[in-house]
Amino acid sequence: MKLIRHGEIGREEPAVILANGKRVDASGEFADYDEGFFAAGGMEALSQWVEDGCLGGREISPLVRIGAPIDRPSKIVCVGKNYLDHAKEFGEGIPTEPVLFMKASSCWSGPFDEVMRPPGAEKMDYEVELAVVIGQTMRHVSEDDAMSYVAGYSVFCDYSERAYQKEMEGQWMKGKSYDRFGPMGPWMVPASQVPDPQALRLWTKVNGELRQNGYTGDMMFPVKMVLSYISRFMTLLPGDIVATGTPSGVAMGMNSPKYLQPGDYVELGIEGLGEMGQRIVAG
Ligand code: ZN
Repeated sequence: MKLIRHGEIGREEPAVILANGKRVDASGEFADYDEGFFAAGGMEALSQWVEDGCLGGREISPLVRIGAPIDRPSKIVCVGKNYLDHAKEFGEGIPTEPVLFMKASSCWSGPFDEVMRPPGAEKMDYEVELAVVIGQTMRHVSEDDAMSYVAGYSVFCDYSERAYQKEMEGQWMKGKSYDRFGPMGPWMVPASQVPDPQALRLWTKVNGELRQNGYTGDMMFPVKMVLSYISRFMTLLPGDIVATGTPSGVAMGMNSPKYLQPGDYVELGIEGLGEMGQRIVAG
């Protein structure tokens, strides 16, 4: 079972992909995959509903647009420079504890939707990341307990405008938060189906050219540590997203950076979690 949401932008409805590949609408049983869903034990209820044969659920076409697999979260917390090779290409030192920043939740976007390059922007970049979907409220949770709070995983692209991020004053959020700078998908895989989130390959292609080819086992701060660490500084709510950082290969790290241009097609994938793709368009 994987979680998807189908329908027009802003009007998505919850659905599942079954083990046999069929897509079945779940909106008769569940309002949406959102904070309330996860907080109320929705994952268990959804699993049970699927086990019972998806009673009342109609099959949907694989051609229907899918949006992000969960509703827009209360926050998107990101880890910067969490892979050593990326920290080196980024510059400004190797972190000794997790670097945290936020993306505005209004950047939330579907896995195959076009992504706009902001007007005047010239240094737009991609970052494939393992996204963790929080399942229960996390506040001062230990590393040993942290993984039991995870609802599932997905592929996330932390789109960035490097000039806004690095060449202007203040925090990174200016370069991280434009509309559609946060696509996630194509589906959410329940945590129970991902035995080891630190053993997954993740990659990015731009116009078919392999740019990033990393391994989640190379994170300097693994998922359980990052979640525990974040929960010391803020409460993670059900349905929140933690983006765990990107491996090397971003445009910024090249001698002659190949920043994203309108017309480029960006494909991103993680082993076992699926692939997504976005066309870059002029914003
Ligand atoms: Zn990132």
